[in-house]
Amino acid sequence: MKLSKRVNQLEASVTLAASARAKALQAQGRDILMLTIGEPDFTTPEHIANAAKAAIDSGKASFYTQASGLPELKDAVGTYFESHYGYGLTQDEVVVTAGAKFALYAFFASILDAGDEVIIPTPYWVSYADQIKMLGGVPVFAVGTQEAAFKVTVQQLDALKTPRTRVLILNSPSNPTGMIYTAEELEAIGNWAVANDVLILADDIYGRLVYNGNHFTPISTLSDEIRKQTLIINGVSKTYAMTGWRIGFAVGDPEIIAAMSKIVSQTTSNPSAVAQYAAIEALTGDQAPIEAMRVEFEQRLNAIYPLVNEIPGFEAIKPQGAFYLFPKVRGAMVKKGFTDVTDFCNDILEETGVAVVTGAGFGANENLRLSYATDLATLVEAVNRLKAYMAK
Ligand code: PMP
Ligand code: GLU
Repeated sequence: MKLSKRVNQLEASVTLAASARAKALQAQGRDILMLTIGEPDFTTPEHIANAAKAAIDSGKASFYTQASGLPELKDAVGTYFESHYGYGLTQDEVVVTAGAKFALYAFFASILDAGDEVIIPTPYWVSYADQIKMLGGVPVFAVGTQEAAFKVTVQQLDALKTPRTRVLILNSPSNPTGMIYTAEELEAIGNWAVANDVLILADDIYGRLVYNGNHFTPISTLSDEIRKQTLIINGVSKTYAMTGWRIGFAVGDPEIIAAMSKIVSQTTSNPSAVAQYAAIEALTGDQAPIEAMRVEFEQRLNAIYPLVNEIPGFEAIKPQGAFYLFPKVRGAMVKKGFTDVTDFCNDILEETGVAVVTGAGFGANENLRLSYATDLATLVEAVNRLKAYMAK
């Protein structure tokens, strides 16, 4: 079969692939500990599920909604922004999408022409680079090292800027590193973007999942100029334990939002109506269950982080948000005779049943990712197996 050049240059998402491989082994009866996928292990809070049931029972979830999302949901996003960003929104500043992942795609499709460049700080979430390539854009990587807490500086961005640079991606708290940029760092980066007319794609999806007194500053709150230059991606997947519902949204300049809405109208149409009604309740209803989940993630992080650093050859810096650990494992690889981190992760899976994600898909060839969005007993058992594996 002749497939398109477009699809042939594409990798399947390594996070989803790693989790599918682990699930397949589980189905064969293998004892697998899943530290792959970034999704809360909690079920959706009851009041949100009840709102969905009510929307079905009343019949209102039976129908198409506006392609760009229910007006009531756009208002709910506005209410959410008033509480968490300190500014309100008009409906033409919001588009609702089938997951934040599709908001990203619609954004890149709205902005990029062939050859346009997007600066991506590394390590980066797996889908950014492939979505950009799919659309004919060019990912340009700004290398964030573990020694620099995986953060990039204005000097680095400046060195990478060309006349084709259209977008800078900022994902803070970061998947996979859990690092958060400070307000000062963001201000410098935001002012650089304004001065160079580079759009900022702020992927704020982990903004509510921050721990141990760390604070998330949305870059769009730093000045009016920076806000105008920023398109925000967010959604209910991570914060509200709603990964399966597939509701994301984008907030920004009405011209970009209208362009993205056009793409939505010609591709997915509206995201599932029932999920949109659930999302309204998520954003505007009782937030107590959300805080309970955050506290649980924080406790797991504090318990598991020191243990991961006890594994010989694993060196992690303590994440401030999201729900991933991203240790450098160069020492462990050398000890086990591996030069390629993906081969190393496959060996770990084979030998121990611990399923992790290779850093290679995140642009980091000496790291691997462990998701701690799973129960503490599983995490502790995984660390024990990794210690035993390294001792062999
Ligand atoms: N951005 C980041 C950084 C993510 O980790 C995810 C997780 N899938 C997404 C966006 C997309 O989230 P979703 O499509 O589930 O809303
Ligand atoms: N964002 C999550 C992760 O990184 C979900 C999987 C995906 O969409 O890539 O594991």
